[in-house]
Amino acid sequence: MVTTSHDTSVHPVYVIGGGPGGLAAAAALRTRGVRAVVLEKSDAVGASWRGHYDRLRLHTTRRLSALPGLPMPRSFGRWVARADVVRYLEKYAEVHELELVTGVEVDRIERADDGTWLLHATGGRRLTGRAVVVATGYNHTPRLPDWPGLEGFTGELLHASAYRNPAPYASKDVLVVGAGNTGAELAADLAEGGAARVRLAIRTVPHIVRRSTAGWPAQRTGILVRRLPVRLVDAAGRLLARVAVPDLTAHGLPRPDTGLYSRVREGAIPVQDVGLIDAIRAGRVEPVAAVESFDGAEVVLADGTRLTPDTVVAATGYRRGLEPLVGHLGVLDDRGRPRTPGPVSPPNAPGLYFTGFTNPISGMLRELARDAERIARRIASGR
Ligand SMILES: Cc1cc2nc3c(=O)[nH]c(=O)nc-3n(C[C@H](O)[C@H](O)[C@H](O)COP(=O)(O)OP(=O)(O)OC[C@H]3O[C@@H](n4cnc5c(N)ncnc54)[C@H](O)[C@@H]3O)c2cc1C
Repeated sequence: MVTTSHDTSVHPVYVIGGGPGGLAAAAALRTRGVRAVVLEKSDAVGASWRGHYDRLRLHTTRRLSALPGLPMPRSFGRWVARADVVRYLEKYAEVHELELVTGVEVDRIERADDGTWLLHATGGRRLTGRAVVVATGYNHTPRLPDWPGLEGFTGELLHASAYRNPAPYASKDVLVVGAGNTGAELAADLAEGGAARVRLAIRTVPHIVRRSTAGWPAQRTGILVRRLPVRLVDAAGRLLARVAVPDLTAHGLPRPDTGLYSRVREGAIPVQDVGLIDAIRAGRVEPVAAVESFDGAEVVLADGTRLTPDTVVAATGYRRGLEPLVGHLGVLDDRGRPRTPGPVSPPNAPGLYFTGFTNPISGMLRELARDAERIARRIASGR
């Protein structure tokens, strides 16, 4: 049904996505007296956290990861477990009495002539909103590189998003591809969980940082240095790494030759060590060159080496997947990211907001929480 009215404020604000970003935005709007309806395609809030691998914990601290209006309980500990994140999100929606509609996927958003927003959703639904907050997630669609020969690979291949725990890979030879936070942790998990051999294919040597040093969390450093000049932070990072992180060159992982913060600005946040350093030192995870192609049962690496793993786990990231939703509105950059993330609407799309589409060194949950307040303020003030 299409609702039309000249007074656009009679329409709710639609928030697309019931993850932390969407829930925070809806709560911040409700606190300001603005009706917000969260549309979530799965059957419950926190879908991405329900699907993450079992041993995952937040690498940002409990206190710096809470959303507006509800602290995380102390009983969750400093590094909150995945299942507790899900519990927290459920509680969050309940405490803030959020209007949540599950099982509804929004396919496309269009701007109507009267300045409202028309949402096309599951089952032919047409919903009209005074504003829209897109919170569909930075990690939306699993991404597999276009490796030559992949379709003929005779081993097992899965994307990291399908990995839960090491049990199915006990006694297997596993190649993890990609040394971001996920690849690094899955390699350690497999090594600790009984895989016969674990190799980690690395294209760009990652910066590795300790989750905390003498009780001081890496996230707090990230917050402090965020606005400092890149070269200064790069130099400090290099110095700190020499003190805090052992040299793994002899084990096949040299120190990175680019600066830590330069890499962050390119979109690669440092890897927080939750077992990788020890596993590499003990030879339980072997760093190898990047994957170039597949050839039958073999994986061909950039240095010409050929491996025959039983299983390849591709920790090769995600796409934002925003094109079908808003690509036609001219609001995305050439990498498919919103040109104006956070509390700023694109000039050609007033009332359309994006949250959760940056990957800040200060912690994404913290930034989602801050953006929620800013976006809500904007919408409530009618700007
Ligand atoms: C493995 C992993 C660990 C992380 N650890 C941390 C951490 O320790 N600290 C930190 O600060 N950040 C962390 N992050 C980053 C970030 O905080 C999380 O990804 C967080 O879940 C992002 O919240 P979000 O709401 O933006 O997206 P998501 O949690 O992905 O939620 C998006 C929601 O939108 C729904 N949806 C998608 N498309 C549609 C549609 N078209 N219509 C309706 N619904 C839709 C999805 O089902 C999903 O529920 C981590 C990310 C990953 C992948």
